[in-house]
Amino acid sequence: MAQLIDGKQISAAIKDELKTEVASYKEQGISICLAVIQVGNDPASSVYVGNKKKACAYIGIESKAYELPEETTEAELLSLIDSLNQDDSINGILVQLPLPKHMDEYKITQAISPKKDVDGFHEQNVGALQVGSQGFVSCTPAGVIQLLKRSGIDICGKECVVVGRSNIVGKPMAALLLRENGTVTICHSRTRNLAEVCRRADILVAAIGKPKFFDASYVKEGAVVIDVGIHRLPPAVEGGKSKLCGDVDFDSVAPHCSAITPVPGGVGPMTIAMLMDNCVATVRK
Ligand code: NDP
Repeated sequence: MAQLIDGKQISAAIKDELKTEVASYKEQGISICLAVIQVGNDPASSVYVGNKKKACAYIGIESKAYELPEETTEAELLSLIDSLNQDDSINGILVQLPLPKHMDEYKITQAISPKKDVDGFHEQNVGALQVGSQGFVSCTPAGVIQLLKRSGIDICGKECVVVGRSNIVGKPMAALLLRENGTVTICHSRTRNLAEVCRRADILVAAIGKPKFFDASYVKEGAVVIDVGIHRLPPAVEGGKSKLCGDVDFDSVAPHCSAITPVPGGVGPMTIAMLMDNCVATVRK
């Protein structure tokens, strides 16, 4: 049976390490503060923002919440970001996505100072990752690297296939695997013979946003499978509980791989842990 890569346990270990590190900074009089901006009251966003605040409190990072009404104008949001950029007591700025339709997400994410861009979405940080210089890395792919390393899975020289080429998951994921000396292939919706390309992978990263898309026919015997997807399935019976699943059909794939991430409890918890790591990195020497 495949090794289950335990994101809950690994993210908890990272958060505990960060807590100790933050305590040592506090002894030196250094504090860390994250500004969390939410526009509107999308219920899923409220859950994510709540979880981020909780993680901050656990680690000892101060969080300042800015809950703005749905009607906030883009100019008002840009002005808030500008004031937070100038404020020396703020280390990191996070704008919870998605934003209301009347706002240009790209413009907003690029308005955050690259030095406070703990989500790693600013072009300067995206570019830094490509050229191998210091910068904030997008949290979900950074979490995948930690899952692999802390599960004793070597990336060097391995055939790595990343399916999905979004700016926040697929592309930075490929860059990080390359940085770890993997041999990397990126696939997307126009890739021909997807299953055949995926079967070359020693490490397969699924990030396409399609529930249970990848079955055993996409997986080489003994491969490591990382499932980034997260979907809430409707309850099987009316009034029943909804279930979470990933882009991978776990039951079909697990018997064929050497290690696999479950959903929930795999990549999901790592995203916040790596966000916390980026916050702490703002004061790391
Ligand atoms: P996007 O929708 O931005 O990107 C999806 C990518 O998958 C695109 O590059 C698209 O190709 C590709 N794709 C779509 N369908 C296919 C297909 N049939 N075959 C091959 N490639 C395909 O999604 P994200 O990158 O933002 O997210 C991907 C998944 O990861 C989602 O399920 C999301 O919920 C989850 N996620 C989970 C996080 C976590 O913390 N666990 C954090 C972020 C995302 P093309 O470019 O050609 O259109």
